[in-house]
Order: sequence, then structure tokens, then C-alpha cells
Amino acid sequence: MLLPVIEIIIFAIVSFCLYKFFRKRKYQLLSCMAVIAVLFLILLIQFAFLPSGNGVKINYKEGQNLTLEVHTPYGGDDVTAKKGFTGITDTLKAEGEINTDVLGEYTIRYSVEYDGKTYYSDRVIKVVDTTAPELKLEDGLKFSAIDNYDGDITDKVAVTTEKQEDGTYLVKYAVTDSEGNTATAERHVDKVDTEAPKMTLNGNKVKVIMLGETYNDEGAKAQDDMEGDLTSKITSNADEVDTNTTGVYTVTYKAEDSSGNVGEITRNVHVLKKVGYDPNLAKTEDGSSIIHLTFDDGPSANDVTTRNLDTLKKYGVKATFFVVNYGEEGLKTIKREIEEGHTVAIHTYTHDYNKCYGSEDAYFEGVMKMHDKILADTGYDTNIIRFPGGSSNAVSKKYVPGLMTRLTKRMLDAGYLYYDWNVDSTDATTKNQKNADAIYQNVISGLSKGRHNYILMHDIDAKSATADALPRIIEYGLENGYTFEPITSSTPVCAHGINN
Ligand code: ZN
Repeated sequence: MLLPVIEIIIFAIVSFCLYKFFRKRKYQLLSCMAVIAVLFLILLIQFAFLPSGNGVKINYKEGQNLTLEVHTPYGGDDVTAKKGFTGITDTLKAEGEINTDVLGEYTIRYSVEYDGKTYYSDRVIKVVDTTAPELKLEDGLKFSAIDNYDGDITDKVAVTTEKQEDGTYLVKYAVTDSEGNTATAERHVDKVDTEAPKMTLNGNKVKVIMLGETYNDEGAKAQDDMEGDLTSKITSNADEVDTNTTGVYTVTYKAEDSSGNVGEITRNVHVLKKVGYDPNLAKTEDGSSIIHLTFDDGPSANDVTTRNLDTLKKYGVKATFFVVNYGEEGLKTIKREIEEGHTVAIHTYTHDYNKCYGSEDAYFEGVMKMHDKILADTGYDTNIIRFPGGSSNAVSKKYVPGLMTRLTKRMLDAGYLYYDWNVDSTDATTKNQKNADAIYQNVISGLSKGRHNYILMHDIDAKSATADALPRIIEYGLENGYTFEPITSSTPVCAHGINN
């Protein structure tokens, strides 16, 4: 619009001056010709300066290429088209996608058709984020950072605390968004939070799941000294527990207070395979042949247990001792068992069947007592048990019908793993207990390759024949490709069927 107006004004002024000039000198014809000449000159300039395309032009009021702040709508209202002096904006077409909510470079092609020809021009629009995050200081020591593009980036806030001369603290906050825009803030406080939230588990620290069962995570609680209940902020990796793969999974629960102190607590989830007498069930994953030597009822008052320990030491073999209540001498033996790398596990507090199986609580509390005693005496924390008579015992039926059905479940729920056996040395029978040959024969004939072999033996005073047979048993195993392993909480559970 501007150009024609200026042109007309210039034309009018120049024409008027020329007309006056020649008129004064009475050159009528010349004055007319001069006016016409100026008119031609202007038309010439007009065409000389017009763009190619027969005077079709696409104009951008805000410049051809644009930089737009993210989330600013783009309408293209500043784009116009002209043919010469005539506006043809209504025939203008725009092609190309632009999403101003996503950073990037976009190209919009503007075109007009005129006289069957298409004239176009590209506009490049850069969508950028130059806005710093909004850093908000809230009550207590809380804060938040919201970015126009990244959203909530509170977890990216760096907090530094400087102690001031007057004993107060200067807390400085800084946060940078993904485009490098930084916001800072600071405040003075009298107290700072250096204490991590206190974590407590819902349910037991050890959880036992049988292969294929469903794991329901019971979660945890978090309590912060300055911010109160932070349970809702707890994150965990509980979904990594794969109940279709045996193993020990450590579930870690974490909660962070707004000063960045992280409280943490863990739970071990055991996914176990039950292996009974069936040799197929006890198969090892890698085909290896494993012997778990186990000794019940010790430590002995005489030298039976120490003789066994000497033999194990000589061959460099580790075993598992399911112990009963012990005195001062017994404690020394248990300490040696631990020091030499054997597993110390719980058999029972008392072996009197009428007492230990007098009620569910009687056995359960006996195990708790043993657990706490061993822990207090040695610092050794065990969650491995063996029921007197095995989980398949029927003797408990005499005292409490259905006891083993409930007790096995209760022990597992409390995080105690129970191990029966699939090879019986028969050293418990009076017929065999004095016969080392029979004990040796019963053990080696019970062994199977490619599986876990849980061997039942005893180490009370009367079992010296077992101590006599032990070197031969170990030698047989070593010569025949067996490896000896103590039972740990990642050993598959060997469980008999329940008979009560
Ligand atoms: Zn026993």
C-alpha cells in the first residue's frame, strides 16, 4: 500500500515543479512532455525494482524466517501476497506442519497461483525454549521446579547449604532445564534437614515364594523428621521379582526428602523350588551334581562334632549344622562351625516331640529363641531350619492334628526356609548307628548325579559311626564328580510331603 502512495506523491510533486518551471519559461509543450517523461520514469523504476514472477510477491511482515518461543501459537497472519499493487493474499496457500509445542525447525511453504503459474516461498520457523524453569520455595525446606517444556524437574534441583557466621544456613537452589535455561533461588533457614527418612518394612524382611506363585509386595513406610509421612514418595524395584525364576531378589525401597536425604530399606524375596524325594525335582539348573552334607541335633557334648569338623576341614568341604539348644561348650563348637564357613541352621530349641510339637507357638517360639540366641552369641543371622522328624513327620499328629500343615506355612511366611532331605544315611536308627559301613553304603546308594543331594546325618554323642563314615563319603563324592555345598538361603528348598 505504501509504495503507490509514495509514488503518486513523488509524481505529483515532480510534475508540479516541472510544470511550474516550464510554464514560467512559456514552454507549454516541454512542460507536458516532462510530466509524461516523469510518469514513464516512475513506471520504469516500478518494474525494475519489482521481483521476478511478473510482479507476484509474498511478503513477511515479521521477517521471512522466524524464531518462536515454545507453546506460542503460530498463525502466519503476517504473510501477504501481491501482484504488483494488487493484494492477492486471499489466494495464498500454506503447506507444511508446525507443532509449536515441540522444539525443532519447521518449514512452511507459502504459494500463490497466478495466470496458471505457481509462485512460492519457504519460511523456516525455529521453535525454541529460552524460558527458565520456575523455581518455587515452599514451606519448610520444600521446593519445586516446573519447566515450561520439561515439566516437573524438581528432582534436578541442586541444593547447596552454607553455614553462616550467625549459625543460620544459606540454602541455595539451582536448576537447569534440558535447553540450558537456569533458575536459581536462595533462602536463609535456622535449621537444615540432614536426616534421611526413616524406613520400615510392612511384613517380613525375608519373604519366601514358591516357584510360580504370585508375589504380592507389602511395601514399606517412610517417616521424615522434618517432613512427616513420606510413604507416598517411596519407589521400589518390587516388579523385578520374577516368580518364574528361582533366586534371591533384593527389593529396595527408597524415599527422598526434599533436602535430598534418601532413606533406604531392603527385603529379600526368595523364589524357591520345592524338591522332595523325586530326583527330577531336585535337578540342578546346570546339570552339576551337588552334595549338601547336613548334621542334625548337635553340637555333641563329646568329640563327634569336632571330629566331623576336622574331617570337613581336611577335605576343604563345607556342610550344614542344624543345631539344638546349646551350652557354653556347645557355643565354642558353633563359633568354630561359623568361622570355618559352614552353615549354622536351626533344628529346634528342644527335641522333645511332646514339647516342640505341643503347639504351633511352641515350635515357632523355640525357633525364634534359637535365632535370637545364635545372633546374640555370634552375630550370625540364620533363617534356615529343619523340622525335627522332617516336615513329613507324623509324630506331631499325636499332639496337634494338622500342625505341620499350618506350621510349614507359618515358618515360610516368617521368612524361614526349611530343608528336609532326599538321601538318608539311616544313622538315626539303632540298627545302623554303630555301623559305619552301612551308613556309607546308604549314603552313596542314595546319591544321584545332576541334582541336589541333601544328606541326613546326625552329630550327637552316639553318632561316632557317622564321624567314622564321613571321610569315605567325602572321598567318594570328590572322586565321582560331586561338589559339596553348604545350604544357603538361595539353595532350593527340599521339602517332603506333609503328613499332618
Ligand atoms: Zn533331630
